[in-house]
Amino acid sequence: MAVRRIVYCGHPALRKKARRVREIDEGLAQLLDDLAETMLVESGLGLAAAQVADPLAAVVVRRDPDGEEMIELINPRIVEREGEQEGHEGCLSLPTLRGTVLRPERVVVEAVDREGDEIIIEGEGLMARCLAHELDHLAGRLFIDVVEPESLCWMRPDSDKECGYRLEDTTIEDAIEAFERLRKQRESEA
Ligand code: ZN
Repeated sequence: MAVRRIVYCGHPALRKKARRVREIDEGLAQLLDDLAETMLVESGLGLAAAQVADPLAAVVVRRDPDGEEMIELINPRIVEREGEQEGHEGCLSLPTLRGTVLRPERVVVEAVDREGDEIIIEGEGLMARCLAHELDHLAGRLFIDVVEPESLCWMRPDSDKECGYRLEDTTIEDAIEAFERLRKQRESEA
């Protein structure tokens, strides 16, 4: 297992449609292991292959938000969606950005696991949000594409606040520009 580098908004890998997995091989098993480890290190709830610049249709999500048990989904697709929920969302590829996104209240996802067996995952509430968010990544979509624009804000560290941060309003354009700067800075350091 290895921690892979998460790519940020502006990286072309995040805008590509994922490639369907045709063969489950060692490389894919390694990718799934690495996605899980990277997500745990970064304290995420889910991670899609595109976020480590891998083109395959594979994601991992936590079975529950506080646990370390993973659900691995290969070639996942949403086959049922029901209801609506509004809630705050963030993404490891858009660090510290938050915004309100409307998602289905419940989804059913069909996928394949690393043994090649078909699996069906039903998610409600936060799990449905997480699944919808991660599957969006496989379509090259980010949460800023579906966010309620006026809800977008940065979480800025603030030791004066009990929660340790304050929220600062931003716009989609400013956020994209900020990530572009961050990406260039990272590339020049690499
Ligand atoms: Zn994300």
